[in-house]
Amino acid sequence: MNQVMLAGCASYDRAKVEAAVHRLVHPDMPGSGLAHLIKPGMKVLVKPNLLVGDTPEKGSTTHPEVVRAVLKEVLNLGAVPIVGDSPGFGSTARVAEKAGIAQVCRELGVKLAAFTETVEVKTAPSAKVMKSFPLAKEVLEVDAIINLPKMKTHGMARLTGCVKNLYGCITGVRKAELHFRLQRTEMFMEMLIDLADTVRPVFNIVDAIVAMEGSGPRNGDLRPVGLLLAGRDPFAVDTVIARIMGLQASEVPVLALAKGRGKKGVNIEEIQLSGEDLNAYLVRDYRVPTALLLVRLRVPDFVSKLVRRYVSPRPVIVDHCRQCGVCVRSCPAGIISLTEHKGKSGVYIDDQKCIRCYCCQELCPYNAIELRVPLVRRLFQPRRKV
Ligand code: SF4
Ligand code: SF4
Repeated sequence: MNQVMLAGCASYDRAKVEAAVHRLVHPDMPGSGLAHLIKPGMKVLVKPNLLVGDTPEKGSTTHPEVVRAVLKEVLNLGAVPIVGDSPGFGSTARVAEKAGIAQVCRELGVKLAAFTETVEVKTAPSAKVMKSFPLAKEVLEVDAIINLPKMKTHGMARLTGCVKNLYGCITGVRKAELHFRLQRTEMFMEMLIDLADTVRPVFNIVDAIVAMEGSGPRNGDLRPVGLLLAGRDPFAVDTVIARIMGLQASEVPVLALAKGRGKKGVNIEEIQLSGEDLNAYLVRDYRVPTALLLVRLRVPDFVSKLVRRYVSPRPVIVDHCRQCGVCVRSCPAGIISLTEHKGKSGVYIDDQKCIRCYCCQELCPYNAIELRVPLVRRLFQPRRKV
């Protein structure tokens, strides 16, 4: 049976975070015990969410105190940790500096890996849509990976936790290439499942002390949950995150598809919870993006394109756009441009060619891209019970 551990932690106070992480990795916690997984001398990649260069207060990246606490546990076990990720925008060094994680690495004498070299790696035998992945060299060089995501909402995936965080193991522009290749949401989600099965983190610890709701994963609102969650199975931990957000696994595309593949971790009844009482942490009014749950229906390509065009939320540039160009450079389809219209410059999205990947909304530094739900969808969308 899959086990997920919960440790309450009301703030990022260093002593409190360290105590909570220590409880999660302690051998007495059912299903835990980092010492069973990490042996002296092992090289361990600690993989936080380094989405973009934001300060910890913005809540888009794993908090540096959580990274510090986990690194200390790994060091205490006599292993050799490194920290690495491939951000959505910007260099690892700059993003980690802004996120406060580079400073933690310096203080603990831990190397920060930039994920610049790529190795094409054959997927796990269970893979369904991918034959190989362009992974960062460091992902292959280590003996174990500890996945350290942040609990947030996400325009396409609805939530980002353990499974989605592993997308950062793919280097730089190769992430954008995959977005463009796998334009159908279900294909992209199947790819994420293949990736989780291939990368296989030995342990996952989720920073949900202060989570994000609404327009995540960068520009949402902070939502204190006061919790750290941990477990060996990334799907099981994400299923518990979904429950905290008020979602069933069947309402989260990647979990719905994982269930279709027979993954046990997505059945909440089959997850053994330990530590805190989950019921005390359920958030009744957590704001999550709407989603069309067609992922398990095998619709033809032309239907999928029509749905994308007329039913999926479309990215719209709003007035406070500062024309910084981040979205222009991040769009996998290359369909955003800075243009002149009637003597005024502005940012333009060619909606006809938009693949609804929402990388632009994810990375805009000024929260200037809204995802607008089309009228036809608003009329028929069932209201979420809170
Ligand atoms: S929409 Fe956002 S990312 Fe794009 S140019 Fe405007 S401010 Fe920059
Ligand atoms: S405009 Fe935004 S949502 Fe559309 S393809 Fe480009 S990045 Fe993706």
